[in-house]
Amino acid sequence: MTIAYQIGDRLYLNLTNQCSNDCKFCIRRFQAGVGGYELWFDQEPAVEEIIAELKEEDIEDYQEVVYCGYGEPLVRVDALVASSKFLKENYPEVKIRLNTNGQANLIHQKNVAPKLEGLVDIISISLNTATASSYQELCQSEFGAEAFRAIIEFIKESKQFIPKVIISVVDHSDVDIAAAREIAEELDVEFRVRSFSENERES
Ligand code: SF4
Repeated sequence: MTIAYQIGDRLYLNLTNQCSNDCKFCIRRFQAGVGGYELWFDQEPAVEEIIAELKEEDIEDYQEVVYCGYGEPLVRVDALVASSKFLKENYPEVKIRLNTNGQANLIHQKNVAPKLEGLVDIISISLNTATASSYQELCQSEFGAEAFRAIIEFIKESKQFIPKVIISVVDHSDVDIAAAREIAEELDVEFRVRSFSENERES
């Protein structure tokens, strides 16, 4: 079971394989892990197991700790909050980044963005497309057309509680990158295009 894994100077944390999407570009369709790490779980790790792994790491040596795949980290928002509190209490200088599909408020049927305040320094929200219909075509959310609207709302909420908000798209042929960039400008957040190979570790 791989919970924490190093790629370059970042430590990645894998909390869950659950996700509300089934993106056509998701690396999970093509391989069992990244960087030589097997990331499918037989059983998801308990909070105690996540923190035990963090205690084994020299956290100060990493540029960032990143909550990432193999699944949507905010499905396990309570485990994310508990483990990031441990990190911030024991390593106040640590930078914490969260990569998310932005559907947490639909998943939990409540606004979870306030829970991330003081814990997550950077949030990267995968908008992926510029319209609800193209999002659903590419990402196949279990929430249907509602997903895209909820992601836009989650971006706005995140701006209130997290210092740096980035929205990203994958450089997939079906994505209107210029239109997505315009949305980022309207929302006044950073915009980033992820290459497919980069997505191997960002999904
Ligand atoms: S790319 Fe991310 S949001 Fe899409 S199915 Fe994979 S884990 Fe879920």
